[in-house]
Amino acid sequence: MKFKFIDQQTFGDDYTVVYVLGGPGAGKGTQCANLVKDFGFVHLSAGDLLREERQREGSQYGDLINNYIKEGKIVPAKITIALLENAMAKSPSKRFLIDGFPRKMDQAKKFERTVCKGKFVLFFDCPESVMLERLLKRGKTSGRVDDNIESIKKRFVTFKETSYPVVEYFEKQNKVKKVSCVNSPQKVYAETKAIFKDLFDAEEKAKKAASAVKN
Ligand code: UDP
Ligand code: MG
Repeated sequence: MKFKFIDQQTFGDDYTVVYVLGGPGAGKGTQCANLVKDFGFVHLSAGDLLREERQREGSQYGDLINNYIKEGKIVPAKITIALLENAMAKSPSKRFLIDGFPRKMDQAKKFERTVCKGKFVLFFDCPESVMLERLLKRGKTSGRVDDNIESIKKRFVTFKETSYPVVEYFEKQNKVKKVSCVNSPQKVYAETKAIFKDLFDAEEKAKKAASAVKN
């Protein structure tokens, strides 16, 4: 794993980074897969990257990552950010959905300062009771060390105390698009898709207007 020491953004304005946030089990991964198909994003799940690094032979962080995940705690920012930055650098795309990140203020600030500024946050709003039901169901087949009732309770506490403040931080900058996800995945996606379509249409329009002024 490569760490970098220069405190400067690696990826500039030509990159579109959307943070996809929401409690555990809200459905972030499912909706990201839909967005990849329709809008040509590359989907990077911070949790998946951590799990991959945990399995990687020779990784010095395997045990540490496993313990944090089981306890529902946030792995030190340095590790997760390095994994995300390396994945972005390897990809030919300039459009990224960053799923399940940032979920702690230090991660948010460090990533924005040293890797790339996020365009906005897509926030999936979901009551705990619904998330609990989904996670317990997923736990039957996921094989994840954190899809059990003890870990789930800890993840809910971390979400409320540590991750939600990140959503509030971006809300103050008017950068949060909220979607309720108690409905079926299809309905949730219809709402999500409309948000992305509006944004990209507006961007396209602005680009055309700018080039018309130039010519
Ligand atoms: N995690 C972390 N930092 C991150 C993202 C995830 O430490 O930036 C850890 C954390 O312990 C979390 C776990 O990975 O509880 C699982 O995250 P994932 O996004 O896979 O869970 P989901 O929210 O999708 O259920
Ligand atoms: Mg997920």
